Amino acid sequence: MNRKYRKTVIAGNWKMNKTPSETKEFMTEFKSIMPKGRWCDVALCVPAVCIPAAVRAMRETRIGIGAENCNANASGAYTGEIAANMLVDAGCKYVILGHSERRAMGETNEDVNAKVLTALENGLVPIMCVGESLEQREQGITEEWITMQIKLGLAGVPEDKIRKVIIAYEPIWAIGTGLTATPDQAEEVCESIRTVIRKLYGAKIARAISILYGGSMNEKNAYDLLAQPDIDGGLIGGASLDAGKFMDIVNAANQG
Ligand code: PEP
Repeated sequence: MNRKYRKTVIAGNWKMNKTPSETKEFMTEFKSIMPKGRWCDVALCVPAVCIPAAVRAMRETRIGIGAENCNANASGAYTGEIAANMLVDAGCKYVILGHSERRAMGETNEDVNAKVLTALENGLVPIMCVGESLEQREQGITEEWITMQIKLGLAGVPEDKIRKVIIAYEPIWAIGTGLTATPDQAEEVCESIRTVIRKLYGAKIARAISILYGGSMNEKNAYDLLAQPDIDGGLIGGASLDAGKFMDIVNAANQG
């Protein structure tokens, strides 16, 4: 982390877990253990039906609520989809885009790019996910692959909006597997992402962008991962479902 230049962000990704009632219970517990002092930015990205309960519960706090996806179109005949302006109206601040689980369902870099542009136009903070498979890592093409995902995902994002984007490096082999990238492995890729941003947008913006690591981050490994200079926070799946564990990760980020 480098707090001098950029925000530290701890974001939870609940995926397809918890009902609205369970959301209310989680938020009540989370609020009861929230420290009083200064905090890093904390986001909870929850299933669409849980957004109203989450927003209501966190209204008076500094926790931002987010969605896990949005459609790139403004409105229309897209049954089952949710537009960015609907998320804003529902009280969302963040939206996760390009998660590997959605890419596995067929989402392309071009789709992710269209969603990033729409999210920014509507005032949402996109958390754009990138990451390599185990096969790609073993082939030695991690950097090349992620550079492509970043360039295509951010195509057309203007300089005055790029600072709003959060990038999450999530090696696919580490998501939900209990296999965490070592701090050195995670730092190496996060540093290379910052280099790509530097080439695209210049040094000042590269220094200001928050890059998160995600992939089996938990209350035990968070300290070492967050101690790396180019890792500015975490995107947390499994451990964000437990209020106590998620708070431990937030505390790890606050101590760094
Ligand atoms: C994720 O879904 O973004 C994620 C990182 O999951 P987990 O923490 O469970 O590996």
